[in-house]
Amino acid sequence: MVHFVGAGPGAVDLITVRGRKLLSEADVIIYAGSLVNPELLTYAKSGAKILNSATMTLEDVIEEMADAEACGLTTVRLHTGDPSLYGAIREQIDLLKERGIAYDVCPGVTAAFGAAASLGIEYTLPGVSQSLLLTRAEGRTPVPDRESLSACAALHCSLVLYLSSTLADKVREELLAGGYEADTPVAVVYKATWEDELTLHGTVDTFPEEMKRAGIDHTALIMVGDCLGETYERSRLYDPSFHTAYRGVKKEGSLGFSRVSVIVTSVGGAGLLPRIEKALVNPYYGDGTKAPEIRKRILAHDAEGYRSGDTLASVTEEAFADSDAVIFVSAAGIAVRAIAPYLSHKSVDPAVLTIDEQGRFVISLLSGHLGGANALAEALGTDLLSQPVVTTATDLAGRFSVDTYARERGLIVSDFDKAKKLSVRALAGEEIREGTDYVVTNRLDSVGDKLALIPRNIICGIGCRKDTDEMRIAEALDAAFAAAGVDRRALRMITSIDLKKEEAGIVKCAETCGVPYKTFDADTLQKVTDHKSASDFVKETTGVDSVCEQSALYAASELETPYHLLLEKTVYEGVTIALVELED
Ligand code: SAH
Repeated sequence: MVHFVGAGPGAVDLITVRGRKLLSEADVIIYAGSLVNPELLTYAKSGAKILNSATMTLEDVIEEMADAEACGLTTVRLHTGDPSLYGAIREQIDLLKERGIAYDVCPGVTAAFGAAASLGIEYTLPGVSQSLLLTRAEGRTPVPDRESLSACAALHCSLVLYLSSTLADKVREELLAGGYEADTPVAVVYKATWEDELTLHGTVDTFPEEMKRAGIDHTALIMVGDCLGETYERSRLYDPSFHTAYRGVKKEGSLGFSRVSVIVTSVGGAGLLPRIEKALVNPYYGDGTKAPEIRKRILAHDAEGYRSGDTLASVTEEAFADSDAVIFVSAAGIAVRAIAPYLSHKSVDPAVLTIDEQGRFVISLLSGHLGGANALAEALGTDLLSQPVVTTATDLAGRFSVDTYARERGLIVSDFDKAKKLSVRALAGEEIREGTDYVVTNRLDSVGDKLALIPRNIICGIGCRKDTDEMRIAEALDAAFAAAGVDRRALRMITSIDLKKEEAGIVKCAETCGVPYKTFDADTLQKVTDHKSASDFVKETTGVDSVCEQSALYAASELETPYHLLLEKTVYEGVTIALVELED
């Protein structure tokens, strides 16, 4: 195996952790002697064979690698900066491929970033330039015409020239020809991040002379552009008027909590309660029209509201059973221990937060995305003037989170493994797209490898004989969904006629499915006219044509979205089922 490793710009501790590990394990090290800091070789294990490539040809290098490979040894080819820039790795890789020798590449910090760090500059200033161009002046290696320095200069972006320190005069000429003003700032950094680093500041007009005066003619970068100057605009990202989701300024909409438990473990924490309550009475925390119900559970003996007999375990258990958010005003450790026995899965666990008793931090502890803990922490943080603490990776990186996307739209994540893989890819910088990576659908057949996010958009009308048991009804439901080709989790509501209001089988089935069960009287149902089937027998006994179809259609008509009859009345062993799909 051959590892191409980026050594970084110079300073020994600017190699990556991975690069250093590979270096310390290598049997053979071939390093670019002219630029790699030889101190890095102290990371090599004793007995490693160390070669300086400065005196070797490409063929020599490949022979060494092949010899090592033949003996089952590992080679590190150590390149300065990042190997992908002027590293001549492609020709080595191609020869390795020809010989069937495996290789990989470990990135490094390129000189342009080492130099930027030394200068403390930002290449991408708003209103100045949003691009960085890494290039070189033409020397022995030709540069394609369309990339000539004057062409690059015409872009007026931030420009960094490698391999050009002997060509300063020519560089100036081309920069001017390309349209840079003579007084555009230029910095030259010699041996960035090395101990003998040297920096020159000048302009397009003056830098060649300054380089000559300082005797700089190798291992230097020429950096050009107004990013080195004084003027720029403030960044939008951190502007107070530019509200990012991350800073949690309240957005339109609502967080959707129906009951929030606040567990307080100390008298100090109890002092914070009024502020928390005051924040939570806002309908924003509820469904947008009404605030969530607040359950206070106070464990400090001396505090108002303490109920004797309550323990941390008992109130936590209650809170997990009856609340969709649980806020501990306590040390995080207390909360973590308290909730541990009740954790089941992120699809069902409530949001859990902890707030320190001084109210400095609002920490999202559990169910950050699906449970809404992150959003709750952000919103409460704003209201309490506390720092929200969110640690889920996709939020930090500002990346797309499929969990959050689903939660915000009331969609069910059908497969948590697939969702996790998408998060990993999003974190790696990939763009996650609807249609290719995930689909919003309740259809079983349109998913393939993609992650299905299932809308709860099916209303199921049921009719049955008296005392039909729950199992029978559940089986009929399954069969109906299968017949319609729809994921069972899309079920939103079960409906019937009010005669069946207490029908135990249906009531229990709705409970098991976690959906509401709604019934309507016969007069109301007969107002429905867009049903397809009718039965004289049913009409005689109930006064309506088709309990299942009409009740589902009526329930749909109460919601303000278009809908259609997806599955006409179908009979499964005495249970009649109709499915209505909301089109939203
Ligand atoms: N792969 C390397 C570049 C190799 S080309 C990288 O990513 O940095 C060699 C050129 O890189 C030199 O001519 C010089 O222009 C630049 N360079 C490399 N290390 C440097 C350093 N520490 N300071 C300034 N320039 C450096």
